[in-house]
Amino acid sequence: MRFDIITLFPELLRAFMASGVIRRAFDGGLLQVHLWNPREYAGGNYRRVDDRPFGGGPGMVMLAEPLWQCLSAIRAHRQQDRKQAPLLYFSPLGEALNHERVKAWSQLTGGAVLLCGRYEGIDQRFIDAHVDAQISLGDFVLSGGEIPAMALLDAIARLMPGVLQDPDSHVSESFNPSMNGLLDFPHYTRPEVWQGDPVPKALLSGNHAHIQAWRRAQSLALSQRYRPDLVVAARTAQQLSPQDEADLLKLVPIQPN
Ligand code: SAH
Repeated sequence: MRFDIITLFPELLRAFMASGVIRRAFDGGLLQVHLWNPREYAGGNYRRVDDRPFGGGPGMVMLAEPLWQCLSAIRAHRQQDRKQAPLLYFSPLGEALNHERVKAWSQLTGGAVLLCGRYEGIDQRFIDAHVDAQISLGDFVLSGGEIPAMALLDAIARLMPGVLQDPDSHVSESFNPSMNGLLDFPHYTRPEVWQGDPVPKALLSGNHAHIQAWRRAQSLALSQRYRPDLVVAARTAQQLSPQDEADLLKLVPIQPN
């Protein structure tokens, strides 16, 4: 799957692609990433990529022309138009990323072109003419689209077979349908007692069914505590068993401080 990333800071993406488990996705060619710097498509001695906003105000705005030149070079290199490889722009006004949307983006067979903004953003005329979808990382403002691009690529890479060493790893993660959309259960490793705090007994029982039941109950408890909306959604989708409902009833309500 090919992604072309338009960024003024390609070195940020390079460091990201060379580290951690998702490096396998890039090294193995499952994810092909091409980095494009609009500065190389900017004219003049100074290769200007930004200018002051019409109407005044603080900050700078990314120029449409170098972006257009850069996008044209990408389209020529891919020999694909926007239907085969849409242009996704990271922006606070986009739809916030979540598991479902990551899954949908991971199914784009032709991949996509990702546009990382900087400064106050991008000349609106370029967005109107060429952007196919806008993606937000959440209701806060970052100084560039590179972190959202990394977040999207990282989350897509984790879903690709062969990237996580254990193919079951992502199946038991938060938000996955096999978890009925609930949060992941808590994890423990050695030592068995750490600073006087022992690992829950159920995990040492060696009884697989018992461990599964304990993990499910914990997953429910964490979801109920931190994301009660996920429990409501699972109930509405009839994904809670009578045992789940019984486990939920046993939870002690959290007292407000
Ligand atoms: N003036 C804009 C923010 C610009 S921040 C506003 O107030 O909405 C500069 C760039 O960072 C943006 O063009 C965008 O590409 C990226 N960015 C900032 N916050 C983001 C977020 N929450 N999600 C996705 N991209 C974001």
